[in-house]
Amino acid sequence: MTAYDDDYAEVIARSTEAGVKTIFTIGIDLESSRAAAKLAAHHENIYATVGIHPHHAREAGAEAYAALAQLASQPKVIGYGEIGIDLFKDYAPVDIQTKVFKEQLALAKELELPVIIHDRDAHDSIVRILQESGPYPAGGVIHCFSGDREVARQFLDLGFHLSIPGVVTFKKAFELQEAAAHIPLDRMLVETDGPFLAPEPWRGKRNEPAYTLFTAEKIAQLKGISLDEVARQTTNNIAALFKIKVVEK
Ligand SMILES: [Zn+2]
Repeated sequence: MTAYDDDYAEVIARSTEAGVKTIFTIGIDLESSRAAAKLAAHHENIYATVGIHPHHAREAGAEAYAALAQLASQPKVIGYGEIGIDLFKDYAPVDIQTKVFKEQLALAKELELPVIIHDRDAHDSIVRILQESGPYPAGGVIHCFSGDREVARQFLDLGFHLSIPGVVTFKKAFELQEAAAHIPLDRMLVETDGPFLAPEPWRGKRNEPAYTLFTAEKIAQLKGISLDEVARQTTNNIAALFKIKVVEK
């Protein structure tokens, strides 16, 4: 996203300093997918995903899918998404969002890529669609997980990983904190959702990869384990799920 245009080199440097080993930059439409693939091609520890976000569902179609499949053939493109349904912002009609989500799930399956799923106020629809259209042998992640313990269980049963955003550090995020305490560590990831959802103590500011440290610290506290264990296991999880080699920096 354009939020990092002016200082992305500093953002990357701060993430390395904070111990972040790997950054994913996420496609949300064709243009950003191209930019993500390009950025990843130029940085050893940056990987890209490609796809059309539900906000941009109207831009999807045969031509866009062909271009995305082409991008996905690049070695640093390791996942397909964000794809999904967003009933909160509702930028595109829900029937179009649903159609485009199903089409891209099929494409990701054909490309044998893990999927990155955007679920905003749409838990039931997404669980149902994944049940009907699965299984997904390459797996995937429910990014920015925002459900409770029961929703978490449904996604875990479907074989998906759950990615915890900085929201878990917010004082009143009781449901998410309870869910995070119970999600098995070997099925959990941490993320920024940058530039959004910065964790405490940066809440309300621009988010960046270095701040995942605060999210990981909160998870360690909730689970009563060490930060080191959270860091090691979540790093191993992304390496296994996205079939990448994590570079020690
Ligand atoms: Zn999202």
